[in-house]
Amino acid sequence: MKITSIEAFQIEWAKGDAAEKRGAFLRVHADNGMVGIGEASPMAGGLASLIILKHHIAAAIIGADPLDHAVIHDRLIHKLVKLGPEGALGGALAALDIALWDLKGKLLGQPVYKLLGGAWRTALPFYASIGGNGVRTVDEVLRVVEERLKDKPSAIKIRFDNDRTKPDADITGDIAKARAVRKLVGDDFPLAFDANNGLSTGGAIRVGRALEELGFWWFEEPVQHYHIREMGEVARRLDITVSAGEQTYTIAGVRDLIEAGVTMVQPDIVKMGGITGLMRCAALCQAHGVELVPHQTQPTIGHLANMHVVAAQLQATKPIELDDPSNRRHPVFANPPRPVDGLFHLPTAPGLGLDLIAAEVASRRLDIG
Ligand code: CA
Repeated sequence: MKITSIEAFQIEWAKGDAAEKRGAFLRVHADNGMVGIGEASPMAGGLASLIILKHHIAAAIIGADPLDHAVIHDRLIHKLVKLGPEGALGGALAALDIALWDLKGKLLGQPVYKLLGGAWRTALPFYASIGGNGVRTVDEVLRVVEERLKDKPSAIKIRFDNDRTKPDADITGDIAKARAVRKLVGDDFPLAFDANNGLSTGGAIRVGRALEELGFWWFEEPVQHYHIREMGEVARRLDITVSAGEQTYTIAGVRDLIEAGVTMVQPDIVKMGGITGLMRCAALCQAHGVELVPHQTQPTIGHLANMHVVAAQLQATKPIELDDPSNRRHPVFANPPRPVDGLFHLPTAPGLGLDLIAAEVASRRLDIG
């Protein structure tokens, strides 16, 4: 099998979506007529990743064998290292790798999880990831949490999304919201707190102590993502599990977090090497006894790729993430990923097992220059 062409494009979830709200999709065509689908990180609409795919990657992979996906990934990351290796380049390579695994599964007639060595579980619980709580009142936070409980998540994460240029802006308010949510859901319901890099080291210790008292499950990205040593210091000084890594794009970057003291890492399959990258990360985490709980919010192609990897892991200690529970992204898929009674079920069709509806894609795609 040889790659004959690729198409990198944005997808509008609703008419008039702002550019940064769109998805970033990739289709890879092979000479046997098969098509693999991939997705880049949709941060800022994935535009920079799509441009890299179109202008720096497309010509380089024509004629390549999709089964050489790991060699292709490592060759390109070294060839294009001056464009990254973090951020947009990571997203571009992730989209390509996911599409090549989809092709590999289709060629071999097997779901991706089988090619990864088999699934420990094919029904995956999820946690409701709720953003924007920094600007809500305590009461507004409770109303949103109540709404999301209706989807039967096995845990809830409240994200604060505060302005990272103003650390420790409202520690008292943040703790009050965490306390109110704990009271609402009861003592036994699993909760997580995501500071979205909004705290200083001292502020994080203070919030972390409150979360320990409230029985929170984990404390995510307390300090700036680039302060790796301080992230580790917070983790070492607190008893609660401290997590980080959704803004880490390389295996070496994940290693640095682990060495600093972080005991739960959260790389995202649409940012860090796709399926190949996340499997390498899984091996690193297993060797160090560190929890791998991938970041992956939007229920589209990356979500499916992530599910295949998580299903194939011996240790999956936490549920998978679901940010947007609405059906706004569903219309482009013949079989959109949606939970049933609190569980996402892994498809058994070859490849990722996710089918695009060609006419919907055609009406929503926006090509980049
Ligand atoms: Ca997060």
